[in-house]
Amino acid sequence: MILTCANMDIDLAADMPVVNILDPFIKDRNISLQVLRLDTVHPVISGNKWFKLKENIRIAQSLQCSSILTFGGAYSNHLVATAAAANYHNFQSIGIVRGLHTAAKLTPTLEQCKDYGMDLHFVAREDYDRKYDIDYLHTLEKQFFNAYIIPEGGNNEAGMKGAAEIAGYIPKDADIVALAIGTGTTFCGLRNALPEHVSMLGFTAMKGGDYLLDTIQQKTTTGNWQLATQYHFGGFAKKDNTLIDFMNRFYRQHRIPLDFVYTAKAMYGILDMIDKNHIPGNTKILMVHTGGLQGNNSIRDLLQY
Ligand SMILES: *Cc1c(COP(=O)(O)O)cnc(C)c1O
Repeated sequence: MILTCANMDIDLAADMPVVNILDPFIKDRNISLQVLRLDTVHPVISGNKWFKLKENIRIAQSLQCSSILTFGGAYSNHLVATAAAANYHNFQSIGIVRGLHTAAKLTPTLEQCKDYGMDLHFVAREDYDRKYDIDYLHTLEKQFFNAYIIPEGGNNEAGMKGAAEIAGYIPKDADIVALAIGTGTTFCGLRNALPEHVSMLGFTAMKGGDYLLDTIQQKTTTGNWQLATQYHFGGFAKKDNTLIDFMNRFYRQHRIPLDFVYTAKAMYGILDMIDKNHIPGNTKILMVHTGGLQGNNSIRDLLQY
């Protein structure tokens, strides 16, 4: 079965929901917290992936490529978003998947990639690690003729340019813009698009996130940003009961679903920093909900939403 992906209009209406998080403990400190619900853009081409992909799709169209090739792990939001976006825009899609999974045991993410017609190629981790290696990319170009190659996570110039458009949906009075970080593409694109007086706070999803400091420094044109690297909950895509309880509680209180890989860790970090008085009073924080909810399909039984 090949699904057809409806509704990825390249030009988006300007009404992306911004919701207030009303919580006495935040209000007592004279802080306001809002969430920009990019997760509502599209159920699969969700959140920041939609923005990072749109410019890439435009380029693939202008180059008249026949297919789009990209990279990802077995739970990758980017991989499935690419499969859906390619489908919608009539490209064949090819996924280079980290690890030698067998077709009998695909993750929900990979099943969905297949449903969108993505041609999955499983490679050993050592080969996957060559994803930025020019010789390896040339081999793939030969193997998949006329394919447009998007790096893992949509981490390229076009991805940053698309992410910059998120700035247009951020309320003008925000003092701090906070979001989850994987490759940093979204963070850098936004940093370069927002006025310098807006502070940016990034929550790294993996352990040892300080390695991103140099990359972000190189890709950004302004300062006034910082990373919070301690809210990884054990590492990338790791979770514990504290995180799961937090996700269920947050949903009960605010009716906003968070994903366990990125947005739950960022939101937990924001609230913890408010609690520990690491955010000054009289501050308006805008959290960008970067989507990624499909990842929760692998922990469905733990969630009450
Ligand atoms: C991919 C993803 C991120 C990370 O985006 P980068 O641009 O790679 O930093 C953050 N949040 C969610 C929900 C994602 O799916």
